[in-house]
Amino acid sequence: MSVDSIDDLSTDNSFARLPGQFYTRLNTQPLDRPRLLHANVSVAHMLGLSDEALTRPEFLDVVSGNRGLRGGDTLAAVYSGHQFGVWAGQLGDGRAHLLGEVLTPQGGLELQLKGSGLTPYSRMGDGRAVIRSSVREYLASEAMEGLGIATTRALAVVTAQDPVYRETVERAAVVTRVSPTFVRFGSFEHWTQHPELMQALLDYIVDRFYPECRVDSAGDTRGTHATILRFLRAVIRRSAKLVADWQTVGFCHGVMNTDNMSIIGVTLDYGPYGFMDAFQIGHICNHTDTQGRYAWNAQPSVMHWNLYRLASALAVLGPEPDDLREQLSGFEPDFLDAYHSNLVRKFGLRAWQDADEAWVDDWWRLLHTQQADFTLSFRRLATVTTDPESFLGLFSDREAAKAWLENYHARIERDALPEQERIAQMNQANPVYVLRNHLAELAIQAAEKDDATEIDTLLKLLRTPYVERPGYEAYAAPAPDWARDLHVSCSS
Ligand code: AMP
Ligand code: MG
Repeated sequence: MSVDSIDDLSTDNSFARLPGQFYTRLNTQPLDRPRLLHANVSVAHMLGLSDEALTRPEFLDVVSGNRGLRGGDTLAAVYSGHQFGVWAGQLGDGRAHLLGEVLTPQGGLELQLKGSGLTPYSRMGDGRAVIRSSVREYLASEAMEGLGIATTRALAVVTAQDPVYRETVERAAVVTRVSPTFVRFGSFEHWTQHPELMQALLDYIVDRFYPECRVDSAGDTRGTHATILRFLRAVIRRSAKLVADWQTVGFCHGVMNTDNMSIIGVTLDYGPYGFMDAFQIGHICNHTDTQGRYAWNAQPSVMHWNLYRLASALAVLGPEPDDLREQLSGFEPDFLDAYHSNLVRKFGLRAWQDADEAWVDDWWRLLHTQQADFTLSFRRLATVTTDPESFLGLFSDREAAKAWLENYHARIERDALPEQERIAQMNQANPVYVLRNHLAELAIQAAEKDDATEIDTLLKLLRTPYVERPGYEAYAAPAPDWARDLHVSCSS
């Protein structure tokens, strides 16, 4: 069942029923001559909007921030966070507005505009976003969805004529993000001086997303503490799975600050992210991250550290530090479970064995030493038995690659899946297409000219990234030389 007008959706804003300290109610700032660059039909359907609804003027009005969502309650939320390992104090939705939530059969889905104008949390910022970063967010969230990795979604991207001053003058854009919630680790960290408000947020999040963690206790603090510990454990589990999923597709988030960590374990806040082309173990996707704090190989331990910050915030609600620590010690086994089960699928195995650690380490070393393409190395490994050349062609030192292959062949023979089954399993775990930086860049260049055909093409490929499509070989190819000079920074 779908509706032909965004005005006919059933809506609410449960976040707005939290105490007033959590947000500021305010309007979005309209854009100059907004134009719908692209609308996402699959997210629209998830919300209960028909294709027709996307062509209506009221749809553009809402996704451009010209007016609110009927039945919603527009607001900007406050949060704090640790940025690059340092306490940054109060942050908040500096250029984002929560419009409210759409009630769907799968539960509430919040609509949030990003780039929709100033808020009390804008600090030195202008409340705007540029076309470049908005298209990158729009494409990345759908690419992640296609890969089966937990993520916020994106409904639409709108461009306008307003000038936005970054390193150069760019044009304003707004992306409409969709998620069950946008609450972050930093939303909890904000209330360490106000335990009663942290408790209100905890109750809100547990009731909506972690009801199984609730320990009934008729007002007894032991029950409250037990609930907190179970909740923390559940957040750890989801976050460990998320970062394991990032690792095994070569995704680098770029800014894993605690204010960018979703409390429900979805990928949130796409900024200077990157899917790796040539594998480098310490690959840094964010040009601004000079120390490599958020390098590829640092992501799991950074997630663990972020969870430790969350646990420290929750400590003000009274659970014993030792009990919190015990939950945190679950991170490593959770991560390894998820990571190994991804590798089992990617290498076409039946199950993980302890001895696999050694040849998988050798695999990463091989890719790193030869700067082999992350995505293609995995993809072409599936058919290495019948077509070794296309795999070996990815390596400059073929002998080293052949030596590694001997171990791999021995391993798959020892624990053999039937050949065709192994290939099928690997092809469902190793994508052909990922959102390489240069592909996003080409889509951005077209979008700057109000041309969304590249966005269309990329979404088609990235929604089913495991399916090889004839005619789209260029989209699966390694990055061209000109892409080496592409720098992605925090500027957005
Ligand atoms: P980010 O690094 O993008 O996650 O942003 C960190 C904080 O800065 C958040 O509170 C953002 O809302 C805020 N921020 C980033 N860019 C802007 C901007 N152009 N205007 C206002 N606030 C911004
Ligand atoms: Mg952020």
